[in-house]
Amino acid sequence: MKVCRTPADLDALSLRREGRPLVLVPTMGALHQGHLSLVDLGREFGPVVVSIFVNPKQFGEGEDFESYPRDLERDLSLIEPLGVDAVFAPDVALMYGARGEVTVLPGNRGQGLCGGDRPGHFAGVLTVVAKLFGAVRPDIAVFGRKDAQQCLVIAQMVEDLKMGIRLIDGPTVREPDGLAMSSRNRYLDPAERERALCLSGALAAGRDLLVSGERQSAEVAAAMLGKLAAADQVEYAEVRRVPDLAVEEQLSGRVLLAVAARVGPARLIDNFVVDVSETGVTDAVLLDEIAEHRGSPGMV
Ligand code: AMP
Repeated sequence: MKVCRTPADLDALSLRREGRPLVLVPTMGALHQGHLSLVDLGREFGPVVVSIFVNPKQFGEGEDFESYPRDLERDLSLIEPLGVDAVFAPDVALMYGARGEVTVLPGNRGQGLCGGDRPGHFAGVLTVVAKLFGAVRPDIAVFGRKDAQQCLVIAQMVEDLKMGIRLIDGPTVREPDGLAMSSRNRYLDPAERERALCLSGALAAGRDLLVSGERQSAEVAAAMLGKLAAADQVEYAEVRRVPDLAVEEQLSGRVLLAVAARVGPARLIDNFVVDVSETGVTDAVLLDEIAEHRGSPGMV
């Protein structure tokens, strides 16, 4: 598994073999089982490039860019056994060194939720993802459904800018007790780790209410908020329509239940995607492309 620092290093590997699609799995490193599951998913389609780049432009003022865990050797040892074809680990100067910096701005899908209290966050995400797409030129890119708004904002960019890259959203990998895996979970001490369970608990409460027949968005959001009392600071507890993330009073069709909260030093997010119909509530996919691509409904 070659570690490439530049697009030219990647090109030299000639990874497009036998007409199979080239797959990119973008990460910021500090890899865990969630990331590895995306690599496994990508490997079903073709040769895989994992990018590892802690993107300064998506961190806000006072966020954890400086302290974000970086351990390339450990990350490499985790993905090497999975049969990853190459790692793309550029430095900041290569990604952002040029004069006349271009920035990609999100549309409506970037409003509120993780775009609300973090101005510039999605512009930072889209700009780096566009650069990674340009450097790697993948046919397919795999993202985690855990960052649902990010998936939808990127999908809009790919569509609007005619990038011609197929996006796949992988299901959220959780600890046995339900906590969504995150590189930031390592910031939690044991008591905070326990309290962090309130995020998945809040989503379960929201879904339970939907299952019991409630269709008022505000009621479902209030039930989620009520369960977040164990967090130190709630950023949001919201229900939005998929895929446009519009706010609706009455819920029907595909919806995103989404929460973000601070627990101790960590800012944590989590979500469920469900389909709400007259007959009931079922888990749903985020991006239609996955169902289309795999010939079956995606996993939640
Ligand atoms: P990050 O390194 O946190 O930027 O994440 C890189 C990719 O991994 C993103 O597409 C995330 O959505 C995805 N990801 C993060 N946590 C999980 C998880 N628990 N399960 C599945 N994918 C995840």
